[in-house]
Amino acid sequence: MKLKLNYEAFDRGLEKLSGEYKIFAPVVLDYKGSFSDTPDIRYKEVNKFSEMEFALKSHFSPKEVMLPINEILLYFTQDEYSEAKAKDEKILIFMRACDINAVKRIDEIYLRNGEEDYYYKRMRDKIKFVLVGCKESFRNCLCVSMNSNKTEDYAMALNIREDELYIDIKDEEFNVFEGENAEFEVDYVKENYVKVEIPENIDPIKVNQAPFWQEYNARCISCGRCNFVCPTCTCFTMQDIFYRENENVGERRRVWASCQVDGFTDIAGGHSFRNTKGERLRFKAMHKIHDFNKRFGYHMCVGCGRCDDNCPQYISFSTTIDKINEFCKEGE
Ligand code: SF4
Ligand code: SF4
Repeated sequence: MKLKLNYEAFDRGLEKLSGEYKIFAPVVLDYKGSFSDTPDIRYKEVNKFSEMEFALKSHFSPKEVMLPINEILLYFTQDEYSEAKAKDEKILIFMRACDINAVKRIDEIYLRNGEEDYYYKRMRDKIKFVLVGCKESFRNCLCVSMNSNKTEDYAMALNIREDELYIDIKDEEFNVFEGENAEFEVDYVKENYVKVEIPENIDPIKVNQAPFWQEYNARCISCGRCNFVCPTCTCFTMQDIFYRENENVGERRRVWASCQVDGFTDIAGGHSFRNTKGERLRFKAMHKIHDFNKRFGYHMCVGCGRCDDNCPQYISFSTTIDKINEFCKEGE
């Protein structure tokens, strides 16, 4: 069902849904940005359309709703443990096409790469998406090159106009909105300012030896921001927290981890697989455009451009892809 409605009518529909769903969308958090006096745009719980921010790209992706930065898995005492309870509410997330496509990648890792992840599955089963149409590309986006500028995987889709909204309802549960019937196509980006070409048949052994990786030894500061803002990075580490009042009691958490940060590949005996920043960047880049593809048949990167937006050293992932491409073409 496709409808046209004003913002007030949309809010009335959201209110009806809020009895059953927690609704998440990007919001502006004033003075919370990485640089002084700048805002942060992150996914938070909302009630009204006016609270949502879609004129700008969110700094963090909606991944943090599904995979919390810090998630308690269980509580333990000396003798026993109990599983952290799942929240009962269903979740509705307003997302752009690239981010919905990113969830497909997260699903591969947590649900189809060996045993299903129990904690992810119980959360994922409760989540539905509202696709937010993008009329124009943002800075650094490369979703068209990564083939993730469109999706049909949504419960409802939304086109935003100055005084009205257009919604395409696919899931009957969302037949709570009142408006006029309308015919429209959900907005999607047809061209980005940034375009990349991913070389076919990358030889990873050859690319590993490319000299340009060494440039990053001096430039990258191993802050891990590029991982944390990426909607497709899924690595975590485990932490046991012992309560101060009783050191035999505590909780086990999983916490986001970054392959760019020192210590990520440390193993017993004082060894580490990737010691330099260039080696770490190479690992990340190759995972996004080669290794995942080899395993699942499509690229991991969805081209949201957040890694480029947020790197304090202005290291550009799309430029890295260009360098890999040029290197692969050398000597052909
Ligand atoms: S690698 Fe960069 S552009 Fe690709 S999905 Fe991650 S943050 Fe977005
Ligand atoms: S590439 Fe940029 S964002 Fe990523 S770890 Fe290095 S400095 Fe930080």
